[in-house]
Amino acid sequence: MAAYYNEHTVLWLNGSFVKASEAKMDLYSQSLHYGYSVFEGIRSYKTVNGETKIFKETEHYERLKNSAAALNMPYHWDTPELIAVTYEVLKQNNLQDAYIRPVVYAPANMSFVENKASFIVIEVWEMQPFLGDKLLKVMTSSFQRPNPKGFKIHAKAGGHYVNSILASQEAKAAGYDEALLTDMNDFVAEGPGANLFYEKDGRLVTPALGNILPGITRATVLEICEELGIEVEEKQFTVEELKLADAVFYCGTAAEVIGWESLDDVKFPKPWNETVSRTIQKAYKHKVTEKEYKSSLELA
Ligand code: PMP
Repeated sequence: MAAYYNEHTVLWLNGSFVKASEAKMDLYSQSLHYGYSVFEGIRSYKTVNGETKIFKETEHYERLKNSAAALNMPYHWDTPELIAVTYEVLKQNNLQDAYIRPVVYAPANMSFVENKASFIVIEVWEMQPFLGDKLLKVMTSSFQRPNPKGFKIHAKAGGHYVNSILASQEAKAAGYDEALLTDMNDFVAEGPGANLFYEKDGRLVTPALGNILPGITRATVLEICEELGIEVEEKQFTVEELKLADAVFYCGTAAEVIGWESLDDVKFPKPWNETVSRTIQKAYKHKVTEKEYKSSLELA
């Protein structure tokens, strides 16, 4: 397991900067017992100018607020305050390229009634791309994503990630790098912690919103397509259709943009370096580090 903190690490806990090794949390919290928490996964980057920039910080903290609202959790922080605090946590830990994890959690409560208060912690650590940097061998999971009639699936809630853990562990136990999950209607949904796009004849296709987490990286890829004039469609499709793709990639804050080698041992035929997907991967890296590009030619 990675070392997330050491004796020098500082986090922000309910208004104070404290040492990670000295921070305390209530073991009677409803969040620990029932998975009733919301969180974000954010990254900061050292830009081409040498500054530290949190990528899409407003979008992430607004999603945190919306996730809390979806779960009826009290939320009394504002986004600019949390952004300023996050920059300070990065500074105190001497980090520029970092992964940032805010978690909003509940007080001690073993019942299911609403709480009068919530707590917040912001942790930062160094993290390489979550799924590595090699093309992925992906397996269609036996697990489906949570049914939107059973969960507020647009919220990034702690408990939803039991589904992600089960799917990912199943894929790894079977010798694959990662899982692909379908929705309750057997359409392609997303990965345990990433959205996906497939490429066919130079066009991109991604699952429509509705049964997936609306990823901020997914929205960024759509922005890049617009900038570069790459045609993209949001629709429902099956695993069989996905297997006919020229190329596929996962995208998410932690994973960034990472291509697939195969799905259920069916290889994607187009050499990765010749795909539009590869251009998207490069454009994403430019965007997060604030390196300018005006056309796909500059990304070659
Ligand atoms: N889907 C799931 C299930 C996720 O956990 C994540 C990671 N937050 C994503 C998609 C990608 O979201 P984002 O691009 O906002 O990180």
